[in-house]
Amino acid sequence: MTARYDVVIVGCGHAGAQTAIALRQSGFDGSIAMIGEEPHLPYERPPLSKEYLCGTRTLDQMLIRPPQFWSEQSIVMLLGQRVSWIDPVLRHVGRPGAQDIGYGKLVWAAGGSARRLGCAGDEVSGVHTLRSLGDARKLRAEIPNARRAVVVGGGYIGLEATAALRECGTDVVLVEASNRLLARVAGAEISRFYEREHKSRGVDVRLDACVTSIGERDGRVSHVLMAGGERIDCDLVIVGIGIVPQVAPLLEAGAVGGNGVAVDAQCQTSLTHVFAVGDCALHENRYAGAQVRIESVQNATDQATVVAKTILGHEVAYDALPWFWSNQYDLVLQTVGISSGYDRAILRGSPASRSFTVVYLKDGRAIAMDCVNATKDYVGGRLMVAKGVSPDPAMLARTEIPLREMLVA
Ligand SMILES: Cc1cc2nc3c(=O)[nH]c(=O)nc-3n(C[C@H](O)[C@H](O)[C@H](O)COP(=O)(O)OP(=O)(O)OC[C@H]3O[C@@H](n4cnc5c(N)ncnc54)[C@H](O)[C@@H]3O)c2cc1C
Repeated sequence: MTARYDVVIVGCGHAGAQTAIALRQSGFDGSIAMIGEEPHLPYERPPLSKEYLCGTRTLDQMLIRPPQFWSEQSIVMLLGQRVSWIDPVLRHVGRPGAQDIGYGKLVWAAGGSARRLGCAGDEVSGVHTLRSLGDARKLRAEIPNARRAVVVGGGYIGLEATAALRECGTDVVLVEASNRLLARVAGAEISRFYEREHKSRGVDVRLDACVTSIGERDGRVSHVLMAGGERIDCDLVIVGIGIVPQVAPLLEAGAVGGNGVAVDAQCQTSLTHVFAVGDCALHENRYAGAQVRIESVQNATDQATVVAKTILGHEVAYDALPWFWSNQYDLVLQTVGISSGYDRAILRGSPASRSFTVVYLKDGRAIAMDCVNATKDYVGGRLMVAKGVSPDPAMLARTEIPLREMLVA
């Protein structure tokens, strides 16, 4: 007989776990099953490129809830199982070699898998991506013996991995295809600052640089070849070039989407009774002014709450202010809002002091902030961004005036 649950959640990451937690916290007493490909109980992914890689945090310290929580809350965990198809008419999900599972509501929270380079040699031993605990474990085991690593990708994950490697004493060549670091997520001032910081720690930063192939010796990575012909010798490669959203079963079942699965403000897909949350959910975001997927814990958590409330019949819509963070060396970068499309950036404080903020304006309105070791600005300025206030740029630059005072500007 086919097992059936009132809510089936596919994916035991942040968004899946938070959906189950929010359902129970909101008083949902129906049956819940979570199906996850990884063999682990839900854990936090951010430490994988930070404390876990440096060995200062363990899996136990990364679990989203203690192991007994899930059984205490009558949440059935089906781990190490991949959902490969969906029948939206029968309301079944299917796993290879196992019985179908029926659902009342389906919540798709399958995140994404790490994008690979797709060049010759990108699967050679010693070439790593960093998405799961399994990835981080394999990588961590090799770091003590690595003398020189090539990190491909100058986004958050590439830069955090670079910092962790340097802290372990490994030489790093950082290769970024764009003409600046963090180009997708931050303004030029922040890019220049992080480039200087990494260089000051001995990182060999290469911009406008593309890897064309990866070479091996005795079955293990030995070098990368760059467009232009340069050969960089190395014994470890980390590829941090984004993710591919895991939505194929949904799209094959007829859901609208492409680079993710399209959802409305309640995180409902175009399939009845099917929701999607987290990294894979393509949604209209007011702060981005576009249909986007947002890869952050904030987005996963807030969308999960919206789905839980919607399932319980409340009228809610996802409209949360995006925020992100990144830890590298002794630097904490906190970002609020989405800066793409800004037409003016105001620097507040001095990058030389290693504590400063960049406020991004569009048509005079504050749309985002990057705060480096400047938590006071981050806390004080969040509301300014949330409300889209038009502050006086001259006042913004004056660090003696707290950002919360800009609300009346
Ligand atoms: C190394 C790293 C560092 C990060 N640092 C930060 C940070 O500092 N701040 C921040 O805000 N965000 C950070 N993020 C991003 C954040 O972790 C993600 O946005 C968040 O995990 C998204 O949650 P999710 O549930 O959508 O996806 P995930 O957490 O990826 O969970 C999806 C789960 O679904 C499983 N799955 C996929 N397909 C199937 C299937 N067909 N059947 C069953 N299971 C399936 C996957 O194996 C996975 O376990 C980081 C991510 C990584 C990888």
